[in-house]
Amino acid sequence: MIHKILIVGLLQCNCSIIGDESTREAMVIDPGDDIDDIQELLRQDNLQVKQIVITHAHIDHVGGAMKLRAATGAPILINQNDAQLLQMLDTQAAWIGIAPPGEVVIDQALKNGDTVKTGSIEGNVLHTPGHTEGSVCLYFPREKKLIAGDTLFAGSIGRTDLPGGSFEKIIRSIHDSLLPLPDETIVVPGHGQLTTIGDERQMNPFLGKR
Ligand SMILES: [Zn+2]
Repeated sequence: MIHKILIVGLLQCNCSIIGDESTREAMVIDPGDDIDDIQELLRQDNLQVKQIVITHAHIDHVGGAMKLRAATGAPILINQNDAQLLQMLDTQAAWIGIAPPGEVVIDQALKNGDTVKTGSIEGNVLHTPGHTEGSVCLYFPREKKLIAGDTLFAGSIGRTDLPGGSFEKIIRSIHDSLLPLPDETIVVPGHGQLTTIGDERQMNPFLGKR
């Protein structure tokens, strides 16, 4: 599996490009911004985008999705529970002082238990509400890799004070859906450095043993 992480935009979102080495098919996860840089990487690796997967509808994760969709024809996959946040992208742009990205459509709704396939690569969709109502994580069981969006960070968790946020829900989501994953699972958060499920189970101050 090809996996490249590109830090995009003002808020430094971790955008993942995940590709199949033999079919050269790829999915791009959270293309928040800097679509030209993402496309340059895709060209370098001779990859064709088949899906644009959004972990949640915050502008730093979804802001570039329509531009990438227009350039590649790939569908945008988002959990339906973030539809309301998508309607607020202009407000979100004003929060951080950037130009509004225009309307973003949901081509395919992501649900808990869905599998996203690109070539021979399979990612399982875990619905993990809390940071937003429609937050999802993507788990690649064969590679033991988790794309965590803004649900789990190295030593922290996503903020829950924005519209749709809930501290109780994010804690429950992490305990029920993420901590059961194997210790050695590599976690790629929406921002900042990588970690593992084992390290977070041991050391994350928000995840005290229950
Ligand atoms: Zn967010």
